[in-house]
Amino acid sequence: MKRRTFIKLAAITPVAAAALNPMNLAKGQIPPGGRPARGGFPPRDQGPTEYVPTGPGIQVRFLGTGGADWRGPAENGELRRHASILADGKVLFDYTATSADMIPEGVHPQVIFYTHSHNDHYEPKPALELGIRRVYLSETWLERATRDFQRAAEQTGMPMPEIIPLKLGQTVEQDGIKVTPLPANHASNHVDEETFIYLIEKDSTRLLYATDTGGLTARATGYAGIGQFSFERKFLTGIIMEATMGVGYKEDQRIFSHSSVDQVASTVRVLSESRKYLPVEGQKVYITHLSKTAHTGSQEEIERSLPAPLSCAYDGLEVLFR
Ligand SMILES: [Zn+2]
Ligand SMILES: [Zn+2]
Repeated sequence: MKRRTFIKLAAITPVAAAALNPMNLAKGQIPPGGRPARGGFPPRDQGPTEYVPTGPGIQVRFLGTGGADWRGPAENGELRRHASILADGKVLFDYTATSADMIPEGVHPQVIFYTHSHNDHYEPKPALELGIRRVYLSETWLERATRDFQRAAEQTGMPMPEIIPLKLGQTVEQDGIKVTPLPANHASNHVDEETFIYLIEKDSTRLLYATDTGGLTARATGYAGIGQFSFERKFLTGIIMEATMGVGYKEDQRIFSHSSVDQVASTVRVLSESRKYLPVEGQKVYITHLSKTAHTGSQEEIERSLPAPLSCAYDGLEVLFR
């Protein structure tokens, strides 16, 4: 067999894949990406130090930036709808009736990815009324969601959408973007439901949409290739992360399922220092899913209080992530 043919075949055999896994390397063999520093740890001082985008990026519109306790305007008149984003005008990540007025005129998204089934993220009826035809969610609550959507289809007279169950780490391509569900540190009222955060990719853009979650779990960072034990030298180029709690809410009981501003700030510092987050210059990290009761001050006051590179997203904000 010619050597080239052999390499091609070898690339797809499980044996070859196992040999490429740094954990399976023979003694003295150097893994792709460099030699582990010590004790099997990935090399720390290698990989890119700068990011040059290769594509146009992902356009994100924040349809809602509030947590579950937003059921109307605050005393100062400001309003946050339930956390939801629209990517490239086509793909929704969560959606409730609160955000109906935030969909721009002439825009008709037909696809939605759900993070989990809490009702500040998941509401089948308004999704169908919006014209959703395809739904992605964790396989762990497929039957329940199918029943909910069947009921909503009967109530609205809209067609039943296609519901596609997702496994952790399974990348799907939709409208030119690649979406990978990662495990969240969160739980719905159903303990067997796997709740997701999402990695959203297009060309070189790697955007993390992390809500609802208490910090980033080891497994989530592992799937995204940015974990402590990740041998692949991958990095994020954009971060949207929930900060349900504001400054001073470190010991709030919600820490088991949600993040605070301090936690987002330290997560971003750690990822930046280890080159797992390499944004284009000037790119901010956006916080979302702000609780009405665990943030004091107006949008402007919160924005002023945040450490760089954090910025407070607001409903209707549009950001291009490169
Ligand atoms: Zn929520
Ligand atoms: Zn939730």
